[in-house]
Amino acid sequence: MTQPTPIRRASRHRPRLLDTALSLAAHGIPPLPLRAGKVPFGNCPDCTGNACGGRPNMKSAGPCQCPGVCHAWAAATTDPRTLTSTPWVAAWRQAAALAYHPGGAGVTVVDLDNAAAMEWARATLPGTRTVPTTRGEHWIYQGVMRSMNHVRPGVDVKSSMAYVRWRGPGGGTMTALPDVVRALAVKEPPAARPAPRSISLPARSGAGQCPHRTPVFLDRGIAMAEQRIIAARSAIHATVYRSFLAVLSTHGRCGCLTDTHVDRLFTAAQAKGETARHCTDAWNNARTTLGL
Ligand SMILES: [Zn+2]
Ligand SMILES: [Zn+2]
Repeated sequence: MTQPTPIRRASRHRPRLLDTALSLAAHGIPPLPLRAGKVPFGNCPDCTGNACGGRPNMKSAGPCQCPGVCHAWAAATTDPRTLTSTPWVAAWRQAAALAYHPGGAGVTVVDLDNAAAMEWARATLPGTRTVPTTRGEHWIYQGVMRSMNHVRPGVDVKSSMAYVRWRGPGGGTMTALPDVVRALAVKEPPAARPAPRSISLPARSGAGQCPHRTPVFLDRGIAMAEQRIIAARSAIHATVYRSFLAVLSTHGRCGCLTDTHVDRLFTAAQAKGETARHCTDAWNNARTTLGL
């Protein structure tokens, strides 16, 4: 008895997420596909390491017109021609989830990760549209601000230069972005923090020489961290963070880490779709965790 030939629906029909993406775009919400691991697709070879200069909407505006889904949130668009173009359709077919660029939609998402964060929000923030997530909620306000992760335990603010997973329209009436949310991402005075977004390298206490091991050991540590990041198939954020933590816990105090080492780690993470911002956050969080 012969088996019936399976009908290959997926290749003939429009990818499921593309329909939702087009409807978001029609409402002025720029979508982008996320791949397995729920992170943006990595950059194409031309865009790797921002060799293309980056997209025109990025912080340091570049000329990149790459037709692919490169540069994470910066690729998100409401243009249906782009969303239905060949490279994008290929990405939609592989996509594991849908995200959007909140800043591009004119909104700010307060991402509450757990019950304690939700309790804080209910006690502190004005009511607005809310969307349930796996463990928490998104509170969505009308208005754009700069994004910042970990503004409080379990709370991220996502608006400009960020992406958020689309979890459905949620419920409630959207209200204007309140000052209490804007204040969450206010930088400390420049005098106190001369380079607020820059990565901090451990203080040089080892006179440039790793005091406990050889440079080969450091190089192997960096290479292992790179490989771990590149090999990750899911939970990219967590893998990047753990890899940074591993490098810093071994070499965070001896002063032998250089910008070149950090660049290698960030490049590996960005090749897996992590944004520069996430890399910086993960690096600084790992340092904080280790008390560096
Ligand atoms: Zn590209
Ligand atoms: Zn590019």
